[in-house]
Amino acid sequence: MAEALVSASWLVPVEGPPVEGGGLVCSGDRIVAVGRKRDLSRAFPAAVRNDWPGCALIPGWINAHAHLELTDLGDPPPPGDFAGWVLEVIRRKRAAPPGGWARAVARGARRCLDLGQTTVADVAGCDGGAAGYPAAGRWCAFPEVIAERPDQVAAALARADARAPEHRWGLSPHAPYTVCGEALAAVRDRGGRLMIHVAESTEEIAFCRTGGGPIRDRLFRTIGQAPPVAPGCHPVVWLDRAGALGPATILVHCVHVGADHVGLLRARGAGVVLCPRSNRHLSGARAPGRAFLDAGVAVGLGTDSPLSSGGLDLLGEMRVAVEDYGWRPEEAVRAATRGGAAVLGLGRAVGAFVPGARADMLALPLGPGRDPWERVLAGERPAAVWSGGRPVAGGAA
Ligand SMILES: [Zn+2]
Repeated sequence: MAEALVSASWLVPVEGPPVEGGGLVCSGDRIVAVGRKRDLSRAFPAAVRNDWPGCALIPGWINAHAHLELTDLGDPPPPGDFAGWVLEVIRRKRAAPPGGWARAVARGARRCLDLGQTTVADVAGCDGGAAGYPAAGRWCAFPEVIAERPDQVAAALARADARAPEHRWGLSPHAPYTVCGEALAAVRDRGGRLMIHVAESTEEIAFCRTGGGPIRDRLFRTIGQAPPVAPGCHPVVWLDRAGALGPATILVHCVHVGADHVGLLRARGAGVVLCPRSNRHLSGARAPGRAFLDAGVAVGLGTDSPLSSGGLDLLGEMRVAVEDYGWRPEEAVRAATRGGAAVLGLGRAVGAFVPGARADMLALPLGPGRDPWERVLAGERPAAVWSGGRPVAGGAA
């Protein structure tokens, strides 16, 4: 099989320090060697050369939480009350032209690839959307389960099972205020990965603890349904008591959590996906991103939906994570690569340049900065993107 030597001004392998004048050799869809360009040239004299001066070569970004089907539903509603935002999302989804979800997913997926995201964990909440996933890239679908009452659980699971079976990566019970305990238990009993929005808003925390507040009085009254029975405790505790907090659990947002919850997540081996731009827009609140990293919790970054974050820009999430969590640039880059892989159970198959890993990568024009990590965060649109060694966007395509 023909080998390719791809190199750049800086190689940022994520696993290990950046290498000036570094590169990698790939054969087929795999990385076979990583190092300095001149050493690789000697070791692989027949490899086809592909150099990207002025760029960093980085593992493909891993967007660990997205809603691609919401790509075409307009700009984010103005920030305000959380219940009002959920109602507006429901209104726009209901007003969307029928049968258009696959088109929206395809457009969102194309944008992800153009921005260098070669792995995307996508909540699939609308029937037919999965037909929009392109052949290139890795699309980890989490069909959404919404069931406020026990008598809705079987039908909700059947609908989720019919969605995206060939891209299935787990299931996504939506949130503690749209999923009853019986639905959570049913998903838990499946034994696969479970992705759930947790502790996103103060309104959710109030509902979980008391059963009241704007989630009941505004959201559910407006849609004319009864909310699920509230667990009477913090949502992280609810998950733990239900036996649904473990290494296959992925908690999205985790804004309103205390040190005890962080410790519990670490003890159970659960993963967290932070969406800093979404949180900033909806409430201005910040997840304890520093505490998660210091505790050793696996942390990925996600763009959430364009209706809260404004778009699919994972580099923007990294920049806001640096500002809002006090992360160093390299911590943000790691969360958007290796961290996302850990959360999704992908191990070292993607998210770092190591021999044997998939050749998912991007050449990113370096911006200004003191070191390669800063210069990556100051970068812009990738000049080239490869998935499994194949060009999928930019000058590589
Ligand atoms: Zn979400």
